[in-house]
Amino acid sequence: MARRLIAGPNDIFICDECVEVCRKILLEEENELSAQFTGDIPTPREIKSYLDLFIIGQDNAKKALSVAVYNHYKRIANPARDPEDVEIEKSNVLLIGPTGTGKTLLAKTLAKKLKVPFALVDATTLTEAGYVGEDVENILLKLIQNAGGNIAAAERGIVYIDEIDKIARKGENVSITRDVSGEGVQQALLKIIEGTIASVPPQGGRKHPNQEMLRIDTTDILFICGGAFVGLDKFIERRVVQHPMGFGAEVREKNTKNLKELYDALHPDDLIHFGMIPEFIGRLPITVSLEELKRDDLKRIITEPRNAIVKQYQASMAIDDVKLEFTEGAINAIADTAIKQKTGARGLRAIVEKLMTDIMFDIPSMEGSKRVIITQDVVEKAEAPEIHPLQKSA
Ligand code: ADP
Repeated sequence: MARRLIAGPNDIFICDECVEVCRKILLEEENELSAQFTGDIPTPREIKSYLDLFIIGQDNAKKALSVAVYNHYKRIANPARDPEDVEIEKSNVLLIGPTGTGKTLLAKTLAKKLKVPFALVDATTLTEAGYVGEDVENILLKLIQNAGGNIAAAERGIVYIDEIDKIARKGENVSITRDVSGEGVQQALLKIIEGTIASVPPQGGRKHPNQEMLRIDTTDILFICGGAFVGLDKFIERRVVQHPMGFGAEVREKNTKNLKELYDALHPDDLIHFGMIPEFIGRLPITVSLEELKRDDLKRIITEPRNAIVKQYQASMAIDDVKLEFTEGAINAIADTAIKQKTGARGLRAIVEKLMTDIMFDIPSMEGSKRVIITQDVVEKAEAPEIHPLQKSA
């Protein structure tokens, strides 16, 4: 069907196909424009200061990531112009640390600071082509969608792949009929992580012939992979003890099982023993380990960051004319409960939510301004919070 493009005495008629071609050209031009870096790249110090606003502790990780991300975007903003120029290769990052220590939060916060599109995916949902599950290209579709369809913006975004340790190669003795979530997925991820022009089905799902594809260059996408790698310390320890010379000797001399020191001695071979394939590890040259959060870190997480849990509940209750307070004992008890649950900071919200349910149910029906105090006994013995009328200062 022909469409009238320009109205007037000499109308131009154009077929639908041509309209589509024009639309694509315009879109490509728009994408190209927005692909150019306009803002300044923040310095590693600026990036770290921003991370400090949201992430408690993890100083080494924040520092290493700030440098890695700065270098990544510096490289994009200053591409090699001459074939003779040294080409700086991209450095994807591997984050290793227990659950709930801030791996995802770090990646998300970095993307926010750099104002680039961000996609969070779970490696366990991915399968190699041909099996039931998601093709790895769907990661890129998510990024494109989060970039509002702007492919050029997506091409300099950040992808965080969580639970990367769950796609480790299974041991010989594991009884599985097919390794759909293991080595095959690592193989499938290799290309897009390294940098390729990928074809992505616009509606997601499986690729099929004759389907129109979105094309996206992954060369400048920063991939951050994260996982808990439970048991990796044993592989490091074994290697360090087997080779008691050099750095290993230092670790052994201290005769310490301190995880941090062990992770400082991490070698790519340890990750290969864990089940990651060498090519995959080779594409994640920056390894950053996160520490288990201690009681004091958890206490600070509850109260300090810009959007700390306590601040969120206080803001929410203030709308109902309630001044919400947590005693020091209550904060200690919440942190201790999270430690017992072994969920890191991830479990904090659920713990506080449970404490608050009854009060949030009752308060909106109560008359007048109130002061609500959450004490240690509210957390430990499930007692009701103290409620007092609030005298507002004139
Ligand atoms: P991980 O990816 O390491 O399993 P997340 O980053 O998803 O953990 O953390 C879960 C939640 O716990 C975050 O949304 C955040 O609220 C909180 N959290 C975890 N670690 C920290 C931290 N170091 N500082 C502040 N909040 C944190």
